[in-house]
Amino acid sequence: MLGGTFDPVHLGHLRSALEVREALALDRLHLVAAPRPPLRDTPQVCAEERFALLEAGVGDTPGLVADDRELKREGPSYSVDTLAELRREVGGEARLCMVLGHDAFLRLTEWHDPEAIFSLAHLVVIARPGYRDTRSKALAELVANREVDSVAELMARPGGRFLPLELASRMAISATDVRARLAEGKSVRYLVPDAVEARLFARGLYQTGR
Ligand code: ATP
Repeated sequence: MLGGTFDPVHLGHLRSALEVREALALDRLHLVAAPRPPLRDTPQVCAEERFALLEAGVGDTPGLVADDRELKREGPSYSVDTLAELRREVGGEARLCMVLGHDAFLRLTEWHDPEAIFSLAHLVVIARPGYRDTRSKALAELVANREVDSVAELMARPGGRFLPLELASRMAISATDVRARLAEGKSVRYLVPDAVEARLFARGLYQTGR
């Protein structure tokens, strides 16, 4: 799973998801939209619309799934609950991975029950341009003794390991930049999929600053 606010989804998310799926030989990768992210300001676009953009962005890409399970859940959306649900679905033996960008990884110890992640899944962290590996002591302790340096070492187990991963295309695209561009009336072409761009303009999303 790759969880996110997807506020809005962009090609950095989608290209990373596709490359992670290939690199780890995963059957599928679920992009899970968060309704009310516990650690962020409330997004200006509602969860249903952000999910519609995510669905448009994923389109018919083989192996990528736009997943709205957290939108259907009552109460706060915690990744460990989603991982537990996915674990029940795939069974105890299948490999399950939680994928994070490096910026999200640096805040992992603030999450709800981060230890539990490792009893459910592997943690795979994608390098993101502009983010250096400045792990806090607590984060270093959380991942200590779990770190591996090759995909092969994830293959043998269903979960419990931590793999930092460099993808071929490191894309310096962020939703913050996409929102700022829309608000300033600048182009977002080649930053988001065409179908997402079309929907953003058809609905006037994020263009309030104009
Ligand atoms: P914002 O700029 O609003 O913080 P974002 O672009 O980081 O948003 P999120 O929805 O918060 O997007 O990200 C969901 C997940 O995708 C996070 O784990 C994040 O680190 C990762 N991610 C986002 N953009 C990229 C990118 N360009 N390359 C790799 N990972 C990314």
